[in-house]
Amino acid sequence: MTNLTQKDINDLVKLQRIHIETGRLEAYLRDVPVQIKDLDNKLDAFTTKVEDDEKLIEELNKKYRTYESDIQLNVSKIKKSQEKLRSVKTNKEYQSSLKEIEDVKAINSKIEDEMLEFLEQIETAEQSLNETKKQYSRILNEIKQEKDSLVQTAEQGKKDLARLQSEREAAATAMDAGLLNIFKHQLMKQSNGIAIAAVKNAVCQGCNMNIPPQMFNELQRGNTLKYCPSCERIIFWQDQNGRSE
Ligand SMILES: [Zn+2]
Repeated sequence: MTNLTQKDINDLVKLQRIHIETGRLEAYLRDVPVQIKDLDNKLDAFTTKVEDDEKLIEELNKKYRTYESDIQLNVSKIKKSQEKLRSVKTNKEYQSSLKEIEDVKAINSKIEDEMLEFLEQIETAEQSLNETKKQYSRILNEIKQEKDSLVQTAEQGKKDLARLQSEREAAATAMDAGLLNIFKHQLMKQSNGIAIAAVKNAVCQGCNMNIPPQMFNELQRGNTLKYCPSCERIIFWQDQNGRSE
């Protein structure tokens, strides 16, 4: 039976810690570009909203100007009719010109009502645009800061990863070669990347199942290489204070 010295257990625990930290860091670094893309999308959505608001105001103003020129046209029509009025000969002609003038005036007054409505719409749209623009500069700032901090954390993460890598190499070199192979084999077998587990109060901390009493007694007497009967991880005994000696 392979004996596990305290150094062996320490080596395994250390290697396991490095493996977990590496995995966490790698997952984080994989996620950074996704987070950056999310932030870019958020900003894009806002830019589109500003552009849409601007477009809407432009359209409304264009329509408003069309109405303005319609009114101008009608005003000159009215003037002409009024001039004509002075030179008409018959009462019938007079009445008909008068009606013409009244009709055009009625059209203009209708247009003016619509223009008022347009003015209100333009005002509302401009207020909304101002609000959006205020939010925009704030959000632009926030997103820039978030991205900067993500990039910085990722830079640090890459350094930490390189440090872990050399720590791992050093730990692997310093430990028993056979044990290292067993550890690696266990890592491949375990889907969540945890190859070893402490046993506390006869419970495997890897799967929370009880260790058979005889096996637990043996573990307490002196650690030998054993595997949890439930999760098959390498197990070692640890007392309530976290000591394994
Ligand atoms: Zn277990």
